Amino acid sequence: MLHLIGTYLPRALRYIVWDPLWRMPERDKVLYLTFDDGPDPDATPQLLEIFEKHQAHATFFLRGDHAEQHPQIVRALTAAGHTIGNHTYSHASAWKVHHSEYAEELSRATEILNGLAGAPVRWMRPPFGKFTPRTLIWCKHAGQKLVMWDVLPCDFVAGITADQIARRTQRFMRAGSIVCLHDNHKSRQVTPAAMRELLPRLIDSGWTCAALPAEQPVPKESVPLLRSE
Ligand SMILES: [Zn+2]
Repeated sequence: MLHLIGTYLPRALRYIVWDPLWRMPERDKVLYLTFDDGPDPDATPQLLEIFEKHQAHATFFLRGDHAEQHPQIVRALTAAGHTIGNHTYSHASAWKVHHSEYAEELSRATEILNGLAGAPVRWMRPPFGKFTPRTLIWCKHAGQKLVMWDVLPCDFVAGITADQIARRTQRFMRAGSIVCLHDNHKSRQVTPAAMRELLPRLIDSGWTCAALPAEQPVPKESVPLLRSE
C-alpha cells in the first residue's frame, strides 16, 4: 500500500510543486535508479560490484556523516562513474528542525562531499522526501537541484523481499523514471539482491540504467510536461 502512495502521490504532486525534479525528461528506455542514506560498508560495495558487472550507473544520495566514516567508498562511487548527491549531514528532517539548522546540515554535507568528489555536488534529496519552500531556496543558492522520485518500491519496509522490490520497480517504471531505493543497514539484505535480479532483466529488455548528470542540474524550463503512459 505504502509503495502505491509513495509512487502515485509524487506523480500528482509534481503538477503542483514543479520545482523539484520528479522524473527525467526522457522518451527512451532510460531509468534513473537512486540510493539514499549511504555510503554503507556492506550494501554500497555490493551495489558497486553489481553495477560494474552490468555496466550500469546510478545516483547515490549520501549522508555527510556516513561519507566521513567511509571516504574510500565515496571515492569508489565517483571513480566508477556514479553520481553523488546531498542527503544532509545526519539525516535531518526539514519538517522537524529549524531552517538554520537544516541549512547547516546541507552545507556541512556539501563541503564533505565536494571535498571527496573533487567536484561540486549538484543534486539534493531531502531525507524522508520532506522539504519546505526554504529548502528549495537553499538549493537554488547552492546550485543543487532537489530530486524526488516517481517510483518508490519501499525497500525500507520490514519483511519486503528482493523479488518484490524488483517487480515493483518494473511494474511502475516509465521512461525517465527516478526510482528511490536505499543503501543502509535496513535494506542491505534485500536491495543489492533486488538489483542482481533487476539489472539483467532491464538490460535484456533494452533499458539503460543511468546516473543523473554529474555537472548540470536540469533547469525547470527545460523539463516538458510528460504524459503518463
Ligand atoms: Zn534517507
